[in-house]
Amino acid sequence: MNKLTIADLDVKGKKILLRVDFNVPLNENHQVADSTRILSALPTIQYLLKGGARLIILSHLGRPKGKPVDDFSLRPVAEVLGDVLKQQVFFSPALLGPVAQTAIDCLKEGDCLLMENVRFYPEEEKNDVQFSKELASLADLYVNDAFGTAHRAHASNVGVAHYFDNAACGFLIENELSYLENLIRSPESPFCAIIGGAKVKDKIQVVGNLLGKADDILIGGGMAYTFLKAKGGNVGNSILDEESADLVTETFARAAKQGKTIHLPVDHVIAESFSDNVPTQTVDGHIPDGFMGLDIGPKTIANFRTIIDKANTIFWNGPMGVFEMNSFQQGTFSIAEGMASSSAVTVVGGGDSVAAVNRINRADDMSHVSTGGGASLELLEGKKLPGIEALAEKKNGA
Ligand code: AMP
Repeated sequence: MNKLTIADLDVKGKKILLRVDFNVPLNENHQVADSTRILSALPTIQYLLKGGARLIILSHLGRPKGKPVDDFSLRPVAEVLGDVLKQQVFFSPALLGPVAQTAIDCLKEGDCLLMENVRFYPEEEKNDVQFSKELASLADLYVNDAFGTAHRAHASNVGVAHYFDNAACGFLIENELSYLENLIRSPESPFCAIIGGAKVKDKIQVVGNLLGKADDILIGGGMAYTFLKAKGGNVGNSILDEESADLVTETFARAAKQGKTIHLPVDHVIAESFSDNVPTQTVDGHIPDGFMGLDIGPKTIANFRTIIDKANTIFWNGPMGVFEMNSFQQGTFSIAEGMASSSAVTVVGGGDSVAAVNRINRADDMSHVSTGGGASLELLEGKKLPGIEALAEKKNGA
């Protein structure tokens, strides 16, 4: 990690514009339903407040599509943040203009102000130059700790950074990068990558890039059926991504060339329809016509667990089955359990995999649980993340 971090900044008395990812789920009463994302940003916020910064926090919430929508107001987040910080968190209903300026002018050292949702402004997602400049004019220094949006080029995480010489990252981004970059730069072998979920097109690039780094690639979930079909298997009515079929064939060819094995399910929990209340059976090999594969079977779990047990580095993104339904959750939970019991470096990314780990209360037993599903995948695809690229490099000797 050669980016400037908040530890490199002199923050005392400075107005600091801090971009975080407070895109939390809200319940029907507009209360924060899960505060994980707020807690993830706490180390950075507490460090800056303790250091005497005058903190101006920016975030997005949901997809209000460039206009104010009450349902996506960040006001309830200010209350939760105040509770966890045990201090008042001020809230500005406007990002720019006199209301915002007055709120900022009132900030004393160690005070914290949360601004309204940046996505209430259409300029945000357009990465508008003038809007970025105006945001930058609010503060002396800029810090980005929103890893979850690092793969997007928006005004509050990319455009604005260009107007500061020392745009730095916070502790969350620093920590995410240290684990994720290690996976592609110097993973301890054997390195096992487990990729699941439904959409082949979202994950095929990461499979391709990890072929060069990982020793074993384990494919489960709905995407496995496109791989199995490409190998000539009968997959019945299982979910298929026909558009990605050629890419899958190419990926097999590249794996063979590199001497890598792509491990696929050898048995399946199947049902006649996509529902929790239908009879299920477990079959080896081919899936009969009229049935769909909805979870990996016990032999596959055993195969995958053997590889996991031998690995020194494990990365996992995407469920092994329709884990939202009781009948098809065994595969996903077994993978989560296997990783949690392993002494390897274990990294979990992606909303569903993280949710599964939380469901079995094993998040603390992973080396790293990523807060950015899309961002972590793009990084592992070998792409540069615009939100990270926009930050300043460490100076010589810093
Ligand atoms: P993705 O967004 O591509 O990571 O896909 C996640 C979704 O894949 C979850 O909602 C799972 O229910 C779904 N999924 C996992 N396995 C299967 C399967 N065998 N058939 C259909 N959907 C699946």
